[in-house]
Amino acid sequence: MRRLLKVCAALLVLFALTQAPFVYRRRHLSRLDAAIRSLNAQRAATDDAGLADYPGALHVHSSLGGHSTGTLAEVVAGARAAHLAFVVMTEHPSAYTDTRAATLSGTHDGVLFVPGTESSESERDRLLAFGGSDTPGGSSSMQPAAQSQPAALPADANAAPTQSLIDRAKAAGQLVFVAHPETFEGWQTARGFDGMEVYNLHADAKNARPLTLFFDGLWSYRSFPDLLWTRFHQTPTENLRRWDELTAVGRRVVAVAGNDAHANVGVSLQDLTGRSIFQIKLDPYERSFRVVRTHVLAPRGQAFDADALLAALSAGHAYVAFDLLSDATGFRFTASNGAEQKILGDEIALVSGVRLRVAAPVESRVVLVRDGRRVDEKVARGAEWAVGERGVYRVECYLPQLPAPLGATPWIISNPIYVR
Ligand SMILES: [Zn+2]
Repeated sequence: MRRLLKVCAALLVLFALTQAPFVYRRRHLSRLDAAIRSLNAQRAATDDAGLADYPGALHVHSSLGGHSTGTLAEVVAGARAAHLAFVVMTEHPSAYTDTRAATLSGTHDGVLFVPGTESSESERDRLLAFGGSDTPGGSSSMQPAAQSQPAALPADANAAPTQSLIDRAKAAGQLVFVAHPETFEGWQTARGFDGMEVYNLHADAKNARPLTLFFDGLWSYRSFPDLLWTRFHQTPTENLRRWDELTAVGRRVVAVAGNDAHANVGVSLQDLTGRSIFQIKLDPYERSFRVVRTHVLAPRGQAFDADALLAALSAGHAYVAFDLLSDATGFRFTASNGAEQKILGDEIALVSGVRLRVAAPVESRVVLVRDGRRVDEKVARGAEWAVGERGVYRVECYLPQLPAPLGATPWIISNPIYVR
């Protein structure tokens, strides 16, 4: 009996020891939560440069394209809850249904939906294609010669080589973005795509170690379900390097975030009729949409419809923000050369010099990157640089106010201004 007690006591001590790091990490999340609240309370309006800021999500799946249990109603509800202005749906093709035609399009509960496709999971080169000829609300300006073209990325997308998929999508007037850059192999050969995901939430989640996440979840899920993301999040260094490489050789490549939202991670117990008895969903749409958003800038006072969204995305008038760390709405990156004023995504002539301006709703460490190299940084709500050299200039903002390691991962990643 005494021996049994000893064994039990030893096991209890062992359990307590293994759980200590998770208790400590729960306290860390509590500090992070307080820091985020304090940052959001400090937000101030910025000079909006005549532009409205539309936060949204790209790369979203429902059960239509397989490997997701999400319904269209759940996508709409999640988008509303995360205050999204738009969602780009990217269903996988199916041999049996036209998933692009069947998914969300138009405006639902105040959120703009644009239907699209992601090439099959079996492809190493994954592409998102959306907009184009049969997008509701789309006008002819986005669709040269589109009327007789079939929707791109069709059901046989599995077999088509990357370039022919891009060509077909572009011929149908669609925008094409490289998804999952971590597995993409066509960097040297693929031409004509509009942009790429510099961050993919689903790929980031693969950094999670299941056992660690399980115990973190046990201690922290109830209080800080959203912040569990910070337990595995890593800076997408390799994607950023790849992107910089492309733009440094003169290509225009628009950066977006891929929410890659599936609502398919969790545990559920059902009866034989499929009625749910018990269910925990780790990645409901609302949570995937809150972690990271792609903000699109479009002229204030004009209608924000599918045309306006696609035109802004195509022009790179967009930035990526990890809004869970602090709402980045209001961020601006502009340039002027005396004769004209441009914004992120645009080209501007150097003439006798260009002034670059950054404004953010809270103080941050603003890092200026030229042709992939960090050239300067300032800690401020707004930063300004006079540049006298041609190059591809972009900025990253960091929040050193947040506890490590979050203070050292980018909060905002802007599209570049091309000084020519
Ligand atoms: Zn996907």
